[in-house]
Amino acid sequence: ALVLGIETSCDETACAVLDGAGVVRAELVASQIADHAPFGGVVPEIAARAHLAALGPMVASVLRTAGVRAADVSAVAATVGPGLIGGLIIGGGFAKGMALATGADFYAINHLEAHALTARLPGLSAVPPAFPYVLLLVSGGHTALIAVEGVGRYRQLGTTLDDAAGEAFDKVAKLLGLAYPGGPALELLAAEGDAARFALPRPMLGRSGCDFSFSGLKTAVAQLVAARPAGALDREDAAAIAASFQAAVVATMADRLAHALAMMPSASGVVVAGGVAANQAIRTGLRAVAARTGHALFAPPLRLCTDNATMVAWAAIERARAGLGPDALATPCRPRWPLDMTAQSFIAGRR
Ligand code: ATP
Ligand code: MG
Ligand code: FE
Repeated sequence: ALVLGIETSCDETACAVLDGAGVVRAELVASQIADHAPFGGVVPEIAARAHLAALGPMVASVLRTAGVRAADVSAVAATVGPGLIGGLIIGGGFAKGMALATGADFYAINHLEAHALTARLPGLSAVPPAFPYVLLLVSGGHTALIAVEGVGRYRQLGTTLDDAAGEAFDKVAKLLGLAYPGGPALELLAAEGDAARFALPRPMLGRSGCDFSFSGLKTAVAQLVAARPAGALDREDAAAIAASFQAAVVATMADRLAHALAMMPSASGVVVAGGVAANQAIRTGLRAVAARTGHALFAPPLRLCTDNATMVAWAAIERARAGLGPDALATPCRPRWPLDMTAQSFIAGRR
């Protein structure tokens, strides 16, 4: 049984072919970063048009690389939410059309569920994370701590009250004059900075629960930058600000994760996902919390932390094994789709 996965919810067009056991036969990701960079963020209309142009040739190419024909695919899985509606319609519509043409099953996948289950992909760790575990999802669009209790069984423990973690990195990077998306550049700059020179607030520290907040921290950085005379922000200053900002984010995430683990004593481990999980300082901070509380930390390789289609195909395999799906071709795309609503059949669960 071969599964084709398709991901078009944000600014990556991706497709992948997995066999029924979850072994990756071929995978492709096309990033649209260059298309959006001039605007300093993802422009939905540009994203949708780029997905439309890229997806058909990419699917043909991934099938060729896998050495299979469209007729050999037994299930087509696409992200149908949450995300930008234009992209979702293109990926979802493509998958439905292909399923209709070939007779393959169709799986309507929740993007967050795909991130949540990625770490269980065979071969990533000696022993894959067992349910239940705590997921920390930190990307450009999402910031959440989630109790993953089983396939289709998720409980949100906390989320951001304002900006997403990656969004905060990107906004602060912009304030420091770094190019979009600034997360990776900010991490590099922080490495040469003195984190103790500026005292920035540590959002949510000591507060109960698992929610995040980054806008106050971002504002504090903006005020620091504005307080310097124009043109006086040299590289040493910028590096010190980057290092303080990153240290504040690490402290917040470590604190929130510790709270999540305390709220979920049965957790077998911690899984991190999302582009921000690429940050080594964050990984180190989370690993320390996990070690202190006796939990294993699972961090998938970066290509599976950021948006990809392997995770979409894998989510379909997990759902099929759990008896959830396939889904009706009439299943709609949903720009908003909370993770704790994935257990029901998609149509029945519509709100
Ligand atoms: P979605 O939120 O829908 O999953 P996305 O495209 O916004 O998708 P990803 O592609 O997973 O998210 O991650 C991109 C984000 O990760 C950007 O905000 C980027 O700045 C941030 N990021 C990437 N590398 C690093 C890093 N080393 N340190 C901090 N942030 C990083
Ligand atoms: Mg992205
Ligand atoms: Fe994502």
